[in-house]
Amino acid sequence: MTFSDLGINENIIRALQGNKISKPTDIQIQAIPHILQNNKDLVAVAQTGTGKTAAFCLPILQTIDPKLPKIQALILVPTRELGIQVAREFFLFSKFLPRVFAESVYGGAPIDEQIHNLKRATHVVVATPGRLIDLLDRKALNLDDLKYLVLDEADEMINMGFKAEIDEILKSCKKEITKLLFTATMPKDVKQLIKEYLVADTVEIRINEEELVNEKIEHKYLIYPKSRKLDYLKAFLNERTAQRGILFCRTKIAAKRLSKQLAGFVVSADAIHGNLNQESREKVMRGFKKSRINLLIATDIAARGIDVKDLDYIIHYHLPEKAEQYTHRSGRTARAGNSGLAVCFIKNEELSEIKSLESQLNIQFRPLEVTVPPESEPGTPITIYMNMGYAQNFDKESMREFLVEEAGLDMVDVRNVVVEESRSYFDIPPKYQEQIFLNLKGMKLEHRNVKLTLDAENSKLNIY
Ligand code: ADP
Ligand code: MG
Repeated sequence: MTFSDLGINENIIRALQGNKISKPTDIQIQAIPHILQNNKDLVAVAQTGTGKTAAFCLPILQTIDPKLPKIQALILVPTRELGIQVAREFFLFSKFLPRVFAESVYGGAPIDEQIHNLKRATHVVVATPGRLIDLLDRKALNLDDLKYLVLDEADEMINMGFKAEIDEILKSCKKEITKLLFTATMPKDVKQLIKEYLVADTVEIRINEEELVNEKIEHKYLIYPKSRKLDYLKAFLNERTAQRGILFCRTKIAAKRLSKQLAGFVVSADAIHGNLNQESREKVMRGFKKSRINLLIATDIAARGIDVKDLDYIIHYHLPEKAEQYTHRSGRTARAGNSGLAVCFIKNEELSEIKSLESQLNIQFRPLEVTVPPESEPGTPITIYMNMGYAQNFDKESMREFLVEEAGLDMVDVRNVVVEESRSYFDIPPKYQEQIFLNLKGMKLEHRNVKLTLDAENSKLNIY
């Protein structure tokens, strides 16, 4: 089966070839002819990494009229990363077509700029639901000529709490607009959306229904003894310094902390999580795509829509809360026909959760062993002096919190904190020396650069 057999035209096929895409995936084989040939609503269920974006992007590109400078397709997505990704595919695959303009709009970025951009001719808008509603309220876009409404990653949009916004958008949409819903799983709320807003004879296609997890993924678990999790992670990474992957944490705080703990480690790591501003997120993502960063530490929400090819492994540093989350996370590796590894870091007591994933997802886990050096003696604590004190609003408590949050230390490892007018000092185990310098040096607080020293005399004289 070729894209040409599916009815995709030569100009689009040329652009696909330029992006090394030559054979359609299963979901593309089923969805493309349907979207090209009739205007019935469609529901497509397929695991992550199966090429759902192109499955709607290609037929939409072929169907819309580039000469009509009106919004003809609206794609709703859960996150800005995915939005940017989807708009980019529209851009790439329309390379040899008359100019088609796809604009992505999302929360967390200045709305005025987006309003301004939407004043130019735009054929496709890719939007997160909340921001779309803001823009509609401000009459920044006109959907009178809309032909297609796509709900991409519908299950994730629901997970992220966009149900009310999606309801509002679907309610305001004209009946004759063709609705296409793409999802990896079918939770109750997605079923309800389909029932309520898609036409009664909506066509539903499902790929690998019982085989929800990509079979090219190898599933492993690694049991770590209490308090040695970080050492086990480092050992795992040490054996894979040339590889790249994503590590999932359950919370933003954990993600940030882990990135601090890995400062200076042979495998370069950085975190993306919801507390980062747009600019920092984009910077981290650029670093990851360009392989300056080999390990991306992410929360589930922040990782949505990330499409980086050739990921060798996925680490479940904290187990996912639900089995479908395991599928989503692990689906970031083994994309587009490659194989990949998914590893769960667990304590002995959590083996039962591995068993439960096995039965729910119909997959098999194997244990993974790593060679971990014996725990080193803690050594004599060292005293670190820092050029911040009461004058910068620190007290003992906030100094400890600062060290935990910004340098990734354990609260129990920070001892004998003394805070003076414009200097503080504290004791830490020597193994943290590099970590603390790497994380804090050069940081700005109250317009002062953080400075650290091991030298008591110099710190008194304020020579750092
Ligand atoms: P999904 O939305 O199903 O999770 P994506 O649409 O993000 O998957 O596609 C996953 C990856 O596969 C992307 O990098 C995409 O460029 C690539 N891809 C899509 N279709 C094909 C194809 N027919 N052949 C090879 N790679 C493809
Ligand atoms: Mg997708």
